[in-house]
Amino acid sequence: MLKSLHGKTVIVTGGSRGIGKGIALRFGEAGLNVLVVSRSEADAVAVAGAIGPNASGFAADVSTPEGCAAMAESAVDRYGAINVLCANAGIFPAAKLAEMTPADFDRVISTNLRSTFLSVSAVLPALTAAGGGRIVLTSSITGPVTGYPGWSHYGASKAGQLGFMRTAAIELAPKGITVNAVLPGNIFTEGLEGMGADYIARMEASIPLKRLGTVADIANAALFLASEEAAYITGQTITVDGGQILPESLGALEAMA
Ligand code: NAP
Repeated sequence: MLKSLHGKTVIVTGGSRGIGKGIALRFGEAGLNVLVVSRSEADAVAVAGAIGPNASGFAADVSTPEGCAAMAESAVDRYGAINVLCANAGIFPAAKLAEMTPADFDRVISTNLRSTFLSVSAVLPALTAAGGGRIVLTSSITGPVTGYPGWSHYGASKAGQLGFMRTAAIELAPKGITVNAVLPGNIFTEGLEGMGADYIARMEASIPLKRLGTVADIANAALFLASEEAAYITGQTITVDGGQILPESLGALEAMA
């Protein structure tokens, strides 16, 4: 049983859908004040409504310094402090190298990696004023560990988050701030719902635990990294992928049977 985080405040970027929504709901359930952030105000407000009176929605584009500054200011105005940042917002538009434009590349890096720097910078004064805090990044297995055609820009952004994390963890350690990352495998989100049973079954077949991850699987890891009990963990990653990155070949999966 983890010590209660009741009354602490978390900002969840990209909290309106998918993994971020799962994180926001889980942290809300654990009693934290939750600022749910996405570009769509209506979506962020809807998730906050589902959490309850300890949550609110806020519209910001986290790829901009102004958006991140406004988000941090809003959390402090509403709740008096920031204790945890879950930097989760991200996009994954596919484009193979032969077609990828510099604008495609910049958009993914800006939304996934630049936003990590900008959101961390924006909450730093409040985390410092609180005497310490937790930063949890949502990275991915794609980039840090694996590759997937169409996602070279995405993989670079997700691996880049980990490079950022390792130095940030050292720089922020004297302030009592830890910086860690969760690396999700294939997680079942609203975005996958329309892909069809065959597509899902093919994905499941490549995972030793034989199911896609749930947003709760990721949220539980994020909540642990945000906990008192994780105080001595910084600059680290937790891969939550049902063993997906383990098989060294198709043969290894077939040999499971
Ligand atoms: P999703 O369902 O598409 O949700 C993305 C969230 O980010 C939405 O709330 C979206 O809201 C927000 N967002 C996007 N751009 C933003 C911006 N510029 N400013 C503020 N908010 C922004 O995605 P997901 O699948 O949950 O993925 C969430 C994170 O997990 C991403 O970092 C992704 O790389 C990572 N991940 C996902 C999987 C997976 O299997 N799903 C696997 C590995 C890693 P708006 O569009 O309204 O802004």
